[in-house]
Amino acid sequence: RRRWRRVVAVLEEFEEACATHVGRLRQVVDAMAVEMHAGLASEGGSKLKMLLTFVDALPNGSEKGTYYALDLGGTNFRVLRVQLGGNSSDRSAILRHDVDRQAIPPHLMTSTSEDLFDFIASSLKQFVEKEEGFSELSAVKRMELGFTFSFPVKQMSILSGILIKWTKGFAIEDMVGKDVSEPLQQAMSKIGLNMRVAAFVNDTVGTLALAHYHDEDTVAAVIIGTGTNACYLERADAIIKCQGLLTTSGCMVVNMEWGNFWSSHLPRTSYDVDLDANSPNPNDQGFEKMVSGMYLGEIVRRVILRMSEESDSFGPISSKLSAPFSLRFLSPFHRGSACARALGMNTDGNHYVMVVIVEELRELTPLMAGIHEDDSPDLREVARILNDDLEIPDVPLKVRKLIVKVCDVVTRRAARLAAAGIVGILKKIGRDGSGGVTSGRTKGLSKARRTVVAVEGGLYTNYSMFREYLNEAVTEILGEEISSHVILKDTEDGSGIGAALLAAAYSFPN
Ligand code: ADP
Repeated sequence: RRRWRRVVAVLEEFEEACATHVGRLRQVVDAMAVEMHAGLASEGGSKLKMLLTFVDALPNGSEKGTYYALDLGGTNFRVLRVQLGGNSSDRSAILRHDVDRQAIPPHLMTSTSEDLFDFIASSLKQFVEKEEGFSELSAVKRMELGFTFSFPVKQMSILSGILIKWTKGFAIEDMVGKDVSEPLQQAMSKIGLNMRVAAFVNDTVGTLALAHYHDEDTVAAVIIGTGTNACYLERADAIIKCQGLLTTSGCMVVNMEWGNFWSSHLPRTSYDVDLDANSPNPNDQGFEKMVSGMYLGEIVRRVILRMSEESDSFGPISSKLSAPFSLRFLSPFHRGSACARALGMNTDGNHYVMVVIVEELRELTPLMAGIHEDDSPDLREVARILNDDLEIPDVPLKVRKLIVKVCDVVTRRAARLAAAGIVGILKKIGRDGSGGVTSGRTKGLSKARRTVVAVEGGLYTNYSMFREYLNEAVTEILGEEISSHVILKDTEDGSGIGAALLAAAYSFPN
């Protein structure tokens, strides 16, 4: 009985430390807006990089023809083919789009750029051949590609950019500090694929492009999937670190790289501290580690493990529960020894280790959603997941209830922090109803304008509790009146289709 009380105490302490009451969320909103200013004021002025994208004109509906896109950046990559009708009065002029989604073979995430891009180029080629047939035309006519890449890039132009660092478990050392689109271009030429990178953008920018194409009131795009990031439309004159920036529209899309946001107001627990310390990028991507799919299941795992150390109601500690997710993210250098250690094996054979990594690749977050969304009175689905996936059999109902609660606490915190981030962007651009940052002319008229934020990514689209908590928190922070003008729009496959739109917009300058 005493031991059970200790288990409950672990949960209560955790819940307390994760608290995100609205006052705290407002502090996060303010911190986000302040950091955005700082990141725009000077290079390195903030943990928010606030990167230029060179996207100063979003597609407007006049684009016409067939375009391709490649979306690379998480657990999957997608190739797309988009046909545009080009009728500018009808904003839904996307005649059709075809998508092929593939998992990135894990060994390519830590290999060389040549291996990665050879693989991608040949997938692209197969896709083109499947879609176009082996027609003469495709051999002669150059195809235009929009390339979304969801890692921090210092953009040199709309066509190219330099990789600043890897996130989300990728570690291809020869790419850091180099142009990303060039090796893709080379790999495509090598296999005779007549395709050119016409637009190289962050995936959030693709999402914004598509959402804006459908709805001109769209001002920002947020992705919450394996990782998390956001971009938004900023006035060129507000990008102080880049004086005299020439744009056709007076605006430019800014890629925030908000996964790296940090503020002392974020509710951080000892589990977050440990997760960070055991990650391949400690002290980095702090916001992402509290918000995105790659990490949520891992936080839950750590809390459950801690609870199971207090009581034997969890049965013997299973190896699934004690092996950190970070197996997936270890650099090749560390991989052998750490895997062998974690799984009690003695191996230095790389091949053997790879098998282990593939097996461990499955993320915990979708399981967590399954646990969280079980509404059967006896939590049957929770029992099944614990037994089948985590190898913890015969978990009593009271323990299962506790585990559901842990998932709830972690997801609620993540969703509410993401909501605060979104409101932070709205505050920065004067759409949060505070009227603070809007231009003098519109001030007197403080009428709220319709504001759309595109949201994409597996957590928002597939995890309904996450989505509900996020939507609810936006309303809570802004109040009913203001939030009734703010629309969060789900945009599945938006980043890829958006990239094809950008390829269209930038291959024939309007
Ligand atoms: P990526 O970000 O890898 O390009 P997605 O946007 O599809 O791809 O996001 C995938 C992530 O979304 C997964 O890593 C996982 O964390 C999360 N996810 C996917 N499906 C679910 C689900 N049913 N429940 C909870 N999380 C999910």
